[in-house]
Amino acid sequence: MPNRAPFLAALLAIAAAGCARVVVAPTWSSLNGAAVAAVAPWARSADLPSRSEVAAGQLLIHADFPLAVQHRLVRELETLRIDVSQTLGLPVSDEPVHLYLFDNTKRYDAFVSRHFPAFPHRRAFFIETDTTLAVFAAWQERVAEDLRHETTHGYVHAVMPGIPLWLDEGIAEFFEVPRSEQGVHAAHVAHLAGRLIEGTWQPDLGRLEAITSAGAFTQDHYAEAWCWTHWLLRTTAERRRLLQDHLTDVRREGPAALPLSLRLRHDPAMPADLAGALRAHVESLARPAE
Ligand SMILES: [Zn+2]
Repeated sequence: MPNRAPFLAALLAIAAAGCARVVVAPTWSSLNGAAVAAVAPWARSADLPSRSEVAAGQLLIHADFPLAVQHRLVRELETLRIDVSQTLGLPVSDEPVHLYLFDNTKRYDAFVSRHFPAFPHRRAFFIETDTTLAVFAAWQERVAEDLRHETTHGYVHAVMPGIPLWLDEGIAEFFEVPRSEQGVHAAHVAHLAGRLIEGTWQPDLGRLEAITSAGAFTQDHYAEAWCWTHWLLRTTAERRRLLQDHLTDVRREGPAALPLSLRLRHDPAMPADLAGALRAHVESLARPAE
């Protein structure tokens, strides 16, 4: 099992986060076990969803309500495990990812404010501790999108706890859209196309890589992280392979791995004008289909 991020560091990081979904990177300074245990009382809490429990591949789903193993969303999240693995060239893991599903926002909010009082309000979140990968979410209108996003974090972190923040979020945004969209995130396309028209966006992967705090990640960063990820995975086989090779290096070498921006710059098969290539990618996606 990979070495998990300390829980208190997780709390602090989430408290500072300004984004809709938060992942706890495993690179924060460590704490002793006592401190971790002292701040993780939720693990045995009586107010965790427990009415039904469904095992679906790597997922262990604990819900407030009866949930059929054949539920469309359960099947979809199970399929996502293979999609993530095959698309990214990552192995699958058997390490459980716990999904805690609350039957309404009120109960979810009460749970979060009791156990995670420092958290800003979020519809769902993923957390990684020394021993656990867990997702918490309320059953609401956008639960499918939220669970695809957070469960992707779970699948990726099970095999790659050291993934850089920008890529972690770029991948989760890529997989949060329904499978039929092939990773095209219409809201991000519209957002970035608007920024291009305004002249307020210049793609810069090095700038994204330099952000290591989830709290500093803005909506612009989520959109750009998604865009680099989509450009790498969905334009040419060479670019997809380059991303897969980078992921393999990060798994092996951790933070010492060559940043993706440098790998792109040093590869003669990649465009010399990377920012221009990314702008053109947004423009092609924003153009109505003919
Ligand atoms: Zn996320």
